[in-house]
Amino acid sequence: MQEFDYICIGGGSGGIASANRAAKHGKKVAIVEANLIGGTCVNVGCVPKKAMWFGANVAEAINRYGEDYGFDVSVNHFDWSVLVANRRAYIERIHASYGKMMAKNEITVINGYASFVDKQTIEVNGEKYTAPHIMIATGGHPRLPDVPGAEHGIDSDGFFALDQQPKRAVVVGAGYIAVELAGVLHSLGTKTDLVVRHHAPLRHFDPIIHETLVDVIENEGPTLHKQSGVEKVEKAENGELTVHLKNGETLKTDCLIWAIGREPSSAKLGLDAAGVKTDEKGYITVDKFQNTSADGVYAVGDITGHVELTPVAIKAGRLLSERLFNGQKDAHLDYSLIPTVVFSHPPIGTIGMTEDEAKDAHGEEKITVYSSSFSAMYTAVTRHRQPTKMKLVCVGDEQKVIGLHGIGHGMDEILQGFAVAMKMGATKADFDACVAIHPTSAEEFVTMT
Ligand code: FAD
Ligand code: NDP
Repeated sequence: MQEFDYICIGGGSGGIASANRAAKHGKKVAIVEANLIGGTCVNVGCVPKKAMWFGANVAEAINRYGEDYGFDVSVNHFDWSVLVANRRAYIERIHASYGKMMAKNEITVINGYASFVDKQTIEVNGEKYTAPHIMIATGGHPRLPDVPGAEHGIDSDGFFALDQQPKRAVVVGAGYIAVELAGVLHSLGTKTDLVVRHHAPLRHFDPIIHETLVDVIENEGPTLHKQSGVEKVEKAENGELTVHLKNGETLKTDCLIWAIGREPSSAKLGLDAAGVKTDEKGYITVDKFQNTSADGVYAVGDITGHVELTPVAIKAGRLLSERLFNGQKDAHLDYSLIPTVVFSHPPIGTIGMTEDEAKDAHGEEKITVYSSSFSAMYTAVTRHRQPTKMKLVCVGDEQKVIGLHGIGHGMDEILQGFAVAMKMGATKADFDACVAIHPTSAEEFVTMT
């Protein structure tokens, strides 16, 4: 039986980050990965998604805005397979650089599916490995609905496996993935329908976000079907799919994508053998130090069901290693004020409380809200004007900024710096004391009245 100081199960964002940090502190580390190093983010998440989003932005620049910027735009063809090949080559380079980094840190990479024998022992491909500290970062996988014909659809993993561009696509779901994939497909020229069960996608975001997103989608596409659940899916002999909606509509398509949420990859880990408890959905229960119910077993990232974002998994994983192997006894991730971006068209950036959450938490009289609405300058000089909307939610007499929300061109890159200010406890007066950068969209956040 091979012995290590630390074993990380799952070679995704959280596992790699924590393993590297432990190795840097001189520990003998193993990482077990059942599939591809890099996990969801690198292989079927953030990275390939962002490459497709950039591709979609190029398409928009050419097809929507190019002419009004004076270009004689004539595009004969968009070759999806070229974009996909370049995206895959980029990911190969990421794999190579991760491999180099782990080799440099003398991390043992074990390929295979890990399951617990007891809380200090795991088994992979019939071999046993032991460590006093074992961390679980096995992430999640897409969920499929329980409707007749669901198997005719693909999920986000299937989207990234597409070698050819679908002519028509139906995307079902209302979260990040549905909005992002529908936007990419639409901008790249696929006739796309987005099907949501309620009044809007991203309905839990501040109303300024989802109301504006619905306006833009209804103006520019993809075709939005609101209050529409899926009843059943049928596949014809020629491969054409018919998606029957509960409101009586039928959609014919070549490609159906389910994007209705994800579930934790915990079922086959043998958690009972280690005494690791989960909630009723299968997410591993952890305290603020990422400790599970079993001594010496920890969990970080999507498997814990807390804010499913790559930087969250990375930071939680690194801080865990600082606590376990570098004497930082109190090191743990502060899960408050985590900024997040949806790579929609236009992009969305948000951090902190929505207006309603703030009013519920602090009382309506304590909340002051500032907002701004304008046409993004990038689009304002063209016939295809697109709105930008921003909101600040402030609390108390000092007007501490506790919520910041924006949708519009550039929001994806605007948010990070404001998140630093909010993490430091900035007030509206601090925002106002900062001289604006002109002409930008970001300047609105420091000039709102
Ligand atoms: P993962 O990265 O999922 O890694 C888990 C790894 O564990 C996998 O490689 C899996 O094969 C392996 N594994 C599972 N079980 C076992 C086992 N028993 N033994 C061995 N290995 C096992 N987040 C962002 O911050 N920004 C984005 O733009 C973004 N875009 C996304 C787009 C999509 C389409 C998706 C699906 C997700 C996106 N995310 C994004 C979320 C982000 O990918 C996840 O939050 C992040 O990858 C979680 O990291 P993790 O380490 O918890 O798990
Ligand atoms: P989400 O949980 O974000 O959204 C899924 C949504 O789909 C639900 O909120 C629900 O919305 C809707 N839904 C649920 N069940 C059904 C159903 N049966 N039929 C139709 N619609 C349904 O999940 P995603 O898979 O989109 O993303 C998972 C997580 O990954 C995100 O929460 C995020 O943390 C992360 N991620 C981050 C990205 C980024 O940082 N840019 C990009 C992609 C993912 P409703 O109740 O309104 O119908």
